[in-house]
Amino acid sequence: MVALWGPLAVYAVVLALHAVLPGRWVDGYLIDDATGRPLRYRLNGLRVLVVTLVLYAGACALGWMPWEWFYLHRWPMAAGACGLGVLFTLWIVLPAPPNRGMPWDLYLGRIANPRWADGRLDAKMFLYLVGAVMLELNIVSFTAYHVITHPGAVSPGLILHALLFSFFVVEYLFFEEVHLYTYDFMAERVGGKLGWGCLVFYPFFYPIGLWAVADRPDPHTPVPLLVLYALIFLSGWTLARGANLQKFWFKRDPTAKAFGVLEPRAISGGGRYVLSGGFWCLSRHINYLGEVLMATGLTLCLGYPLVFTPWLYPLYYVALLVPRQIDDDRRCAEKYGPLWEEYRRRVPSRIIPWIY
Ligand code: NDP
Repeated sequence: MVALWGPLAVYAVVLALHAVLPGRWVDGYLIDDATGRPLRYRLNGLRVLVVTLVLYAGACALGWMPWEWFYLHRWPMAAGACGLGVLFTLWIVLPAPPNRGMPWDLYLGRIANPRWADGRLDAKMFLYLVGAVMLELNIVSFTAYHVITHPGAVSPGLILHALLFSFFVVEYLFFEEVHLYTYDFMAERVGGKLGWGCLVFYPFFYPIGLWAVADRPDPHTPVPLLVLYALIFLSGWTLARGANLQKFWFKRDPTAKAFGVLEPRAISGGGRYVLSGGFWCLSRHINYLGEVLMATGLTLCLGYPLVFTPWLYPLYYVALLVPRQIDDDRRCAEKYGPLWEEYRRRVPSRIIPWIY
């Protein structure tokens, strides 16, 4: 079946575009043990996304493939991606020296930052890029299927969902550099969790809501409710992006005001700083609440709140981020000692202010 090879073709195009399109070099957050300087990264994610979408639109406009091709072939595409994810995991894990034993190594990986061609190609950044591009192709194609099969009765909520989800992908690539300052880069190695996760789970599970309801008719969600759902998404985005940007700027310059207005309030000692103002005084991981709210807003927009499958998307964030917060809290307590104790005292909520 030709669609089984679809992900390989898409991922090869993304790899080629990432290699040939102009990119900007930035300093990462991690220090290169060999040089004592920050690892450098070459970023061009947004360009790769735009060119891939133009190629897809061009192929569809010329009649080489139907707009809804990725929807029609979603199962073999997901199966093909699954095979690639397994092969990638074996390829990246097995040749490296063992770490914690085979099952854990296959899941969590052995190498922290695999990179090639003098850092032009970084495994983590490429995996996130390829996942984001495939996710966007699925969003566009699944939406196209709905539009084509429901002429004159297109669901405005489904279109809103697709627009907000596309915004989520585009803004992630726009702020690609901020991603270099996250847990994935500090605490994760490249194994099945990241490799399989980005090649399969990210592009094929995230659109599970569209996957489940693209063939359903317009649920006629009242406009005020759609506005409310969009606001839930946007409030989540404000919390997640606001907190991440504030921390990103703070790490680069602990004396600078965030967004030109937020004073850099921090607990300091021994040359270390724990940010305790702005977004970071609401809870110790307000950005995680933001992610859950965004996913909830997206799910509600689809207009089928009693269908369970689309809820798997926000539930996945809860399952991912609650243990991650606990692990990160332990990691930060070890790293910052009494500063973190003081931060916990000042900001007792883990994720949801006053509740959790
Ligand atoms: P954080 O961005 O919160 O990063 C945690 C790290 O930041 C800590 O280990 C610590 O590292 C530093 N830190 C945390 N709190 C403070 C503080 N108060 N002051 C100073 N430094 C602090 O979490 P993640 O990296 O997990 O997530 C980043 C973003 O990505 C989040 O918005 C998250 O929701 C999102 N995300 C999105 C996913 C998706 O699929 N859409 C999946 C997973 C995450 P150190 O001090 O060593 O710098």
